[in-house]
Amino acid sequence: LWRFWGPLSALSKVYSQLLSAMASAERIFEILDTEPEVKNEVKARELPQVRGDVSFKNVSFRYEENKPDVLKNVSFEVKAGQRVALVGPTGAGKSTIVNLLMRFYDASEGSVLIDGMDVKQATLESLRKQMGIVLQDSFIFAGTVEDNMRYGNEEASDEELQRAGESVRLDRIVSKLSDGYQTELEERGSKLSVGQRQLLAFGRVLLSDPRILILDEATSSVDTETEQHIQEALQKLLAGRTAFVIAHRLSTIKDADLILVIENGEVAEQGSHLELMKLGGLYANLVHTQLSMQESVMLQTNMN
Ligand code: ADP
Repeated sequence: LWRFWGPLSALSKVYSQLLSAMASAERIFEILDTEPEVKNEVKARELPQVRGDVSFKNVSFRYEENKPDVLKNVSFEVKAGQRVALVGPTGAGKSTIVNLLMRFYDASEGSVLIDGMDVKQATLESLRKQMGIVLQDSFIFAGTVEDNMRYGNEEASDEELQRAGESVRLDRIVSKLSDGYQTELEERGSKLSVGQRQLLAFGRVLLSDPRILILDEATSSVDTETEQHIQEALQKLLAGRTAFVIAHRLSTIKDADLILVIENGEVAEQGSHLELMKLGGLYANLVHTQLSMQESVMLQTNMN
């Protein structure tokens, strides 16, 4: 059932625009900075290295004036290092929450705070440098594997690159490529499978070491071995970072410190898996439906 809760649609849109703008491989934030939606405030400051506390305080948002609010009075608090699962049907407002966190747009009312500082007070570049993002179909540009890895951190040493690669099990994949890390990839990474592209994106984020991570969990199927690698790499990637996961798997959701159930622009429920199961509301119903679907699939498989 969670699978029907689609990917980060709005974010993917921004991302595909970026992709087409990426021909000369400028850095992502420079391009985003040219977005007309938000600009640096006159008194904007450099955001120093953050711990990663995030809070939304009574945030409402609409993409266009005179249109209904897409987010309505959204409030939640996340401590540095915690993992948040955003769940809810397509169109509920999950990507919009992430868009506001990254300041692709500004809240119409209320505030978005990082370490207690309103994101509007920070320069866009210093804000976005603190964030890593991994979308479902990872973004690869024409260039070597190394170029793609270094994208978020051009100053990384060769050793750091190697270490990040090993950490996310990318080294095995790279060693099978004709020129290792120097192998030229085409735009969109056609030499790599979906799962391999994900690992590359993980490696890139690990190398840039952001305090805040935004992840749109992949729903496309990969083989069991790759899936296992992805899950292991993911644990390394998430460790010690504040993470917002648009989650599609019950296993990911269950492990989250905070689950935000978004429905129709509102936080319908929030809490841990246990808390929400006890509450017996929307979340509990979804879990029960999901489990009974799995059971019936298992039953059918057993009967065959
Ligand atoms: P989700 O991520 O939960 O699928 P979104 O945050 O993408 O939901 O969308 C929430 C609502 O905002 C939807 O009704 C969607 O159509 C609308 N929306 C998303 N992006 C834009 C945009 N750039 N301009 C106008 N409306 C948008």
